[in-house]
Amino acid sequence: MTKEVMCGKVKIGGGAPISIQSMTNTKTENIDATVEQILRLEEAGCEIIRSAVPDINAAIAFEKIRSRISIPIVADIHFDYKLAVAAIESGADKVRINPGNIGGDDKLFPVVEAAKKRGIPIRIGVNSGSLEKDILKKYGGVTAEGLAESALKNIKRVEDMGYDNLVVSLKSSDVRLNYNAHRILAEKTDHPLHIGITESGTVNSGKVKSAAGLGALLLNGIGDTMRVSLTGDPVREVYFAKDILKACGIRRNGINLVSCPTCGRTRVDLESIALRIEELTSAIDKDITVAIMGCEVNGPGEAREADCGIAFGNDRAAVFRKGEIIKTDSVEKAIELLLEIIKEM
Ligand code: SF4
Repeated sequence: MTKEVMCGKVKIGGGAPISIQSMTNTKTENIDATVEQILRLEEAGCEIIRSAVPDINAAIAFEKIRSRISIPIVADIHFDYKLAVAAIESGADKVRINPGNIGGDDKLFPVVEAAKKRGIPIRIGVNSGSLEKDILKKYGGVTAEGLAESALKNIKRVEDMGYDNLVVSLKSSDVRLNYNAHRILAEKTDHPLHIGITESGTVNSGKVKSAAGLGALLLNGIGDTMRVSLTGDPVREVYFAKDILKACGIRRNGINLVSCPTCGRTRVDLESIALRIEELTSAIDKDITVAIMGCEVNGPGEAREADCGIAFGNDRAAVFRKGEIIKTDSVEKAIELLLEIIKEM
């Protein structure tokens, strides 16, 4: 098991539930816009938020932003160690640094000292795009071994400065490389791991890469906190991270909706019906499986493991519970009955 680290009031590692993170894409120093986005993310289920600190105004903004939100906020630093120190002093609950571009020990040390003073964790975030030159040379390019070695080397740098309040991440946009690097790293460190696929892409391609990459890691028990990266509104990252955790059987957030793939027996537009039922039940937080099936003959049987469901015929639909049909009615009435049953359960 990994060690436990506290990011604000959220536990990372040590067997704590895998927390969902996202990152704001507003200008951090635009406090109103940043807070507004974080509040939307909080509502969607984001548990830790990260904001970029490209300059001193962003670092200073952390204090005000933090006072208006409820989830911990992480400062994302590239290149300038002074910005890391300023963001920590401004109230950041964690600081993420990229050892590949923060500089030598003389630059790293003040960051470690500032984090130590406030007792906040440092995330060491190794990226395939900024691996150290000596490692690139040793392995002849970006490899899983090289990524893991860079992470381990930089963990040791901070540990040697007398601090082990750490979270580690290594990211590549190559799903297989990402997976292999995490496998190597997870065997060699007990610091909690932040998992993600970097630059995973637009909503469509990014979802596939994240589901494959993060799903594989999670099913192998790797990952203590996660972020899905998608281009666009970060709220979608949170929903999708929840979906991945749900699909891996790690978290139950609301109803598990299953629907049949449809076939030549289907007589209704099952896709739009399933989407409608999904929307109507999206706010219901119950640990049940609901099946939406395209035919009355095979549907209830095929969905035997569902708690309840609906199976469509020509103009009618059968509502079933635990594999048994309890009523057959018109399509609309049957959908209404199903919703009532879900609420009762
Ligand atoms: S439930 Fe019926 S319609 Fe759906 S795939 Fe199975 S047989 Fe076809």
